[in-house]
Amino acid sequence: MDKLAILGGSKAVKTDSGDMFTWPIITGEDEEAALEVLRRGAMSGTDVTVQFEKEYADWFGTKYALAHNTGTSSIHSAMFGCGVGVGDEIICQSMTFWASVLQAMNLGATIVYADIDPDTITLDPADVERKITDRTKAIVAVHYFGHPTDMDAIMEIANARGIKVIEDVSHAHGAEYKGRLTGGIGHVGAMSCMAGKSLAIGEAGMLVTDDQEIYERAVAFGHYERTGQIENPELKKFAGLPLGGFKYRMHQLSSAVGRVQLRHYRERMEEIDRAMNSFWDLLEGAPGLRPHRPPKGSGSTMGGWYAAHGIYVPEELGGLPLRKFCEAVRAEGTSCGAGANLLMHLHPVLNDADVYGHGEPTRVAHSDADVRQGEGSLPQTERMSERLFSIPWFKHHRPEVIREHAEAFRKVVTQAAELQ
Ligand SMILES: *Cc1c(COP(=O)(O)O)cnc(C)c1O
Repeated sequence: MDKLAILGGSKAVKTDSGDMFTWPIITGEDEEAALEVLRRGAMSGTDVTVQFEKEYADWFGTKYALAHNTGTSSIHSAMFGCGVGVGDEIICQSMTFWASVLQAMNLGATIVYADIDPDTITLDPADVERKITDRTKAIVAVHYFGHPTDMDAIMEIANARGIKVIEDVSHAHGAEYKGRLTGGIGHVGAMSCMAGKSLAIGEAGMLVTDDQEIYERAVAFGHYERTGQIENPELKKFAGLPLGGFKYRMHQLSSAVGRVQLRHYRERMEEIDRAMNSFWDLLEGAPGLRPHRPPKGSGSTMGGWYAAHGIYVPEELGGLPLRKFCEAVRAEGTSCGAGANLLMHLHPVLNDADVYGHGEPTRVAHSDADVRQGEGSLPQTERMSERLFSIPWFKHHRPEVIREHAEAFRKVVTQAAELQ
């Protein structure tokens, strides 16, 4: 076997990757759709957006889809839709992008973090159950890096107590949990469609639900121009002004491009799925590396494999540090980054920041209890942030190229001893 590139050998990846990683795929169709909106001066309208919502709801099989200007705002609306308010607690995982849950703070609510399952990197239902109090109003289930959360267990825990489940689908557009599309399983799904995500549109977000109350509360919250369509008399009496003062409408350049992207998404997603699965299949049995994907035959899938990662097991590699491993892999000509999102429960915004001038940290001011969680409070979460690495996120199934990238990883782990 070749010497490691980091020690002066030749690189495992020899073929130029071309457009293997280019995303989103933009064609004349996207350009035409965007120009149509610009030429009409319809950027702030809702006609294209309403079409996009219909197509989106069709895809998810939900009664409603409500387009937003960001994923952050769609999740904020989902929380308000679920009735999250003053003194409530909302449970989420700490290892995720902050916009899965931080918005709860400006509804007067507070956040409690539950631990994760070390194989799926999504909520551990048993720990969610332990974190529930009589103040718990909602659970945010993040399908992290595309991996579906154990929704059967989460729904059972939540439904038994009248707690709402918000699915954060920002990493998992098109991912299925036991044959069901994620986002349509909880009481409401919300997701980012910003340009870096699997369904990449621009700055954009989408909320999907079957629940009329959640939908109408979300309309009332950030879509004042549509409040006339609300049926619930309790909400309708406020029509004309948004409850809370937010404006969350989607920009129509985003909805126009979104309609085109959605039309091609499933086909493109399937190609990504084939490519990523073949990458992991090639690495089967490689020491120190575990795929982050559901078992074959489980009916669960990874959608577009947003920001695909692997799980690192240093014990099988003589304790080789994660960062050193990643550096050696990168030297072979592929991509590999150590770690994942910042852990929120250890961040000063959650522990020290007095955002609204209560005279004490907001997270404490919004609760009867000091819900802050220090180091050691979420053992699996803290451990896994040293055990995750990004892998190349292929957008095309080109076996020769994928083989070279997989070889880069295999080469490093089989020669891990050379790096000590
Ligand atoms: C990107 C992201 C969001 C927020 O979406 P924006 O469109 O960036 O506002 C929320 N949750 C997760 C898990 C994300 O990755």
